[in-house]
Amino acid sequence: MKNTANYMKITLAGHSKNESIARMCAAAFASQLDPTIEEVSDIKAAVSEAVTNCIVHAYPDSIGDIDIKMKIIGDDTLYIKISDKGTGIEDVDKAMEPMFTTAPEDDRAGLGFAVMQSFTDSLKVRSKPGKGTAVTMIKTLRRRGRNGQTD
Ligand code: ATP
Ligand code: MG
Repeated sequence: MKNTANYMKITLAGHSKNESIARMCAAAFASQLDPTIEEVSDIKAAVSEAVTNCIVHAYPDSIGDIDIKMKIIGDDTLYIKISDKGTGIEDVDKAMEPMFTTAPEDDRAGLGFAVMQSFTDSLKVRSKPGKGTAVTMIKTLRRRGRNGQTD
């Protein structure tokens, strides 16, 4: 098991304007791993989808807490956990299927989890109806810096 080299934990109110704050915080924290522009945009997109889900699905009629934990593991791996204490998900496997949405009337495409999956190396979703949801993503970044090149 690799060591945790650094970590951060923030709680944001589930206002839609905080989605961009979450993205910026995630990018700022990840910057210590010297990511490529593409890696930064992948991290921002994945965080954005997870946080948007908290705002629109977990707390449809209220403003609740969104907890974001990030860790640097070893010298190249980013761990991101985004959790809420909202509505929860009845059937997680079903919810993770591409194009599945419980909010088609809001023009939701049902692609948030697919984006998180494709932009990270690992995605785990734990949820309990009425208790909340935790999304954990892990992304190992390409190694830069040893000789100034990506490999
Ligand atoms: P899109 O992300 O394309 O706008 P979407 O949010 O419906 O659409 P996903 O992000 O893939 O699609 O989520 C699928 C479904 O999982 C949602 O429709 C919702 O029912 C459920 N879900 C996802 N995240 C949460 C959450 N944090 N709390 C409660 N339900 C959630
Ligand atoms: Mg979504």
